[in-house]
Amino acid sequence: MSDRLPERVNPYRLADQGRELRGTYPLDLMPRLAEAVAETTGEAVVHLIFTRSVAGLALIEGEIEATLGLICQRCLGLMNYPVKTKFTVALVPDEAAAGSILDEFDPMVIPDELFVRDLIEDELMLSLPLIARHESEEACEETMQEYLHKEFEPDAVEVDKKPNPFEVLSSLKDKH
Ligand SMILES: [Zn+2]
Repeated sequence: MSDRLPERVNPYRLADQGRELRGTYPLDLMPRLAEAVAETTGEAVVHLIFTRSVAGLALIEGEIEATLGLICQRCLGLMNYPVKTKFTVALVPDEAAAGSILDEFDPMVIPDELFVRDLIEDELMLSLPLIARHESEEACEETMQEYLHKEFEPDAVEVDKKPNPFEVLSSLKDKH
């Protein structure tokens, strides 16, 4: 159930065929999103339905779920921000056609090919909160506590015990 989505599709053809796309897209492959959030681990889970409106417009009805890592503006700690967004966009070949779209749909100008990533990234960007904040001051407090615990975990000190690569090299040399 974690099929990678295609990079690009012909949405008009898919609309004619009434096709659906389901799959995932890694968050770290979206550069605009990466700049807007603190962490881009994980994937967006995407479901897109290509269809035609009664008037013949090519539509994409979509649903995207992801968990974004944002910085809380109250405690400056990391927070997981779950996103679940539903949308309908109407595809138009050019700007002129976009002007004639009824208010009920968001027009998206696509001459022929749709870069699936652009659509996912646009919708995730629109889902970002104006100000990221944990839901309560208690949640901020908990985040700080977790952070402090991590800092002082004994595991964190182990790093130095790895063999020094230069020592390993010289011991290799000695064998010759
Ligand atoms: Zn916080």
